[in-house]
Amino acid sequence: MHTYNTATDELARAVIDYALSRIRMDPPPLDRARSAEELARIAGPTITEDGLGGMEALRVFGDVLAPATISIDHPRFLAFIPAAPTEAAILADLITGASSIFAGSWLEGAGAVHAENEALRVLADEIGMPESAHGVFVSGGTAGNLSALVAARTTAKNRRGRPASGWRIAASEEAHSSVQSAANVMDVDLVDIPSGADRRLTGDGLRAALDQMSRADREGLFAVVATAGSTNLGIVDDIDGIATVCAENDLWLHVDGAYGGAAAIVPEARHLFNGCDRADSFIVDPHKWLFAPFDCCALLYRNPELAAAAHTQHAGYLDVLADERNPSDLAHHLSRRARGLPFWFSLAAYGMGAYRDAVAVGLDLAAQTRAMIAEKPELELIEPSGLSIVVFRRKGWSAAAYDEWSERLLRRGLAFVTPTKVDGETALRFCFINPRTTMDDVELILGTLE
Ligand SMILES: *Cc1c(COP(=O)(O)O)cnc(C)c1O
Repeated sequence: MHTYNTATDELARAVIDYALSRIRMDPPPLDRARSAEELARIAGPTITEDGLGGMEALRVFGDVLAPATISIDHPRFLAFIPAAPTEAAILADLITGASSIFAGSWLEGAGAVHAENEALRVLADEIGMPESAHGVFVSGGTAGNLSALVAARTTAKNRRGRPASGWRIAASEEAHSSVQSAANVMDVDLVDIPSGADRRLTGDGLRAALDQMSRADREGLFAVVATAGSTNLGIVDDIDGIATVCAENDLWLHVDGAYGGAAAIVPEARHLFNGCDRADSFIVDPHKWLFAPFDCCALLYRNPELAAAAHTQHAGYLDVLADERNPSDLAHHLSRRARGLPFWFSLAAYGMGAYRDAVAVGLDLAAQTRAMIAEKPELELIEPSGLSIVVFRRKGWSAAAYDEWSERLLRRGLAFVTPTKVDGETALRFCFINPRTTMDDVELILGTLE
């Protein structure tokens, strides 16, 4: 298993050839899931006492497993939140794996951690967070939201002590499901703050909700989650207004920009993110709209010492690490992959200008698609939606009709678009991330709805 011999060399070439051919595919086959029974039947037993050999394992992956795995970088994958990692980021991901980096501590991972910190710094500068801001890359928005909210609660506990009637977090109804999940893990209550007709949570809306809270409820409230790009509709909350109310009321402001935060680097969209400079914590997922491979969420704190106070693990054998600022101290984790390294490599290779242009493509596609849908009598736009998300209805269709259509498109390898629900009613939703998507792709998909 450990000697680099001719068999390893043959496998290395085969694996790299495979990776290169996958990167070159334009587009890759969309593919689709198969049942576990079907996969077991086609693949046969894969883990045996003597091993299949690397070449055979690679064959099983290429022939059986890969075709049962959707290519979410396909230009007509518009479901959920697509991904479209850059070539440089994918290649750096291969290097990251080959380099056995422990990126939990500065002592072990300094070079890689320095690169990650450069990428975090650029993001902090883009949203206007102060020099003091610092953070860490975690696995995803779910882990980022949880780690930020744990830091918020520890800070509140250290300042005010435990409230008599339990801790509370406030967020709008449009907040991502992972905020509820964080509340569950932390055993705190999540208070829904109503958003206006435009579905944005505003400073005024938050203030009105605070005024209506009982003293006891108000006492337990320690954080507000503002969403910078809701996952279903792309709505950005009134972050500036919310920041003001949080400052007046000694509340931690966490901004969830997992999907939409990327748009802050596009000059024309920057104003939507005003107020992020006043956030206590902020997340954006580079594995979504910043073209990094999975899994990669940038988590930033205005005051990283507060995060370290919440998350640093203590043990005799960890004491040697205590003098440095370690990535492991800033979130709920210890060992970690240098998952920000491929993102850094890609930023370094292409430059911020290329990133601004590539994110802007998603915004343009959404704007053009809204205009195209408005022209089609059989379709009806659902307002409001924002950023790179477009939600619309096919007039006269039942929920089952949407499902059948979605499945048919995937089976044909044509596109992957899944229905969503808005106010309880089924609708179709496009999310544009991939800069290789064109309006021809959109036209092709809309054509199947006639
Ligand atoms: C995707 C998303 C999350 C969760 O991120 P994961 O990386 O999937 O864990 C959280 N918040 C928002 C707004 C999102 O779009």
